[in-house]
Amino acid sequence: MIHHSRLHPSRRDALRAFGTAGAALASGQLSAEARQQQFSTVDTPSFPSGAVIRTLTGDVAPTTLSTGATLFHEHVGRSDVELALEELRQCAFNGLGCIVDAATGRRTLEQREALNRIASQTDVRIVAAGSYFQDIGFALYPVRVAEMSEDALVDELVADAAAQRWGAFGEIASSLEMRPDERKVHRAVARAHRQTGLPIFTHTPHESCPSCAIDQLDIIDEIGIDPAHVVIGHMATLKPEHDPLATHRRIAERGAFIGLDTVGHEMTRSDIPATAKVRMVQDLLDAGLEDHILLSSDQGNLRQFNRYYGHGWATVLMQFVPKLRYAGVPETMINKILVDNPRRFLAFVPR
Ligand SMILES: [Zn+2]
Repeated sequence: MIHHSRLHPSRRDALRAFGTAGAALASGQLSAEARQQQFSTVDTPSFPSGAVIRTLTGDVAPTTLSTGATLFHEHVGRSDVELALEELRQCAFNGLGCIVDAATGRRTLEQREALNRIASQTDVRIVAAGSYFQDIGFALYPVRVAEMSEDALVDELVADAAAQRWGAFGEIASSLEMRPDERKVHRAVARAHRQTGLPIFTHTPHESCPSCAIDQLDIIDEIGIDPAHVVIGHMATLKPEHDPLATHRRIAERGAFIGLDTVGHEMTRSDIPATAKVRMVQDLLDAGLEDHILLSSDQGNLRQFNRYYGHGWATVLMQFVPKLRYAGVPETMINKILVDNPRRFLAFVPR
């Protein structure tokens, strides 16, 4: 929530605040007061007893993430640790509190070490997610994954999750037509969820695929897990002529989250205008489905980083949230979607 006292500061206050923020940005320490934008809880959700959010630097009680936005699907890991840390400092300044690093395959040792170095040196909480990813025409499974049995995949997912402190499974992907090996991986992830409790987020093709969302939900049902622990991803890539609200309603009716996780991030594969993405949020709010909305930008593109005058992992906060405000979406809804909904998604009771 924006505190109105900071919307109209005196010039002296503004200079003092800027000096504090500038020094904090340089030192890497950023108190809540020094941020130029702050998001806060609207109504603390009730979490099951024993629930945690598993970050790379420790399990935290979900109630502690009451300030700062959480973005559930971004791409944080990279070999240039210093760059990542500088980006995260800027993103914290812009209101980010917690971020999920989505995987598109099994991380190498070097990738895990870099991500852990990033997590240990930033005050943004980092949740590592793990997955096997395939979307034909975009990325293929390694032969190893294609050949593994479903049971072996379950075992590997559960073991990797424990060894690498995963806080979620994702992004789990399928093609326009779900292939047998993709079905196997989706089933394995759902079964690994049953063993671990870890939440799941998916990728559907960027080319607008309503049926992909339903196919993924069917597997969740088939394995018999609670859809409240699942986000169906890339639902902002549904084209207006495909009636996005109809698919969004079906996801919400089954109890899952609608991942509007390509907002602010303009992609050539899914050229959906921002006005249509804002409309999606408004339609969901009008339908009373605000509890099911999650925002993220799926951002990992160097050219959109702060260093190059983009907003990097704060793209949702700096480029999409102002559009929501302009369209009249109330601050309470913005804060609920950015602070309370992602906490409900990420909170789980370890098994
Ligand atoms: Zn992604």
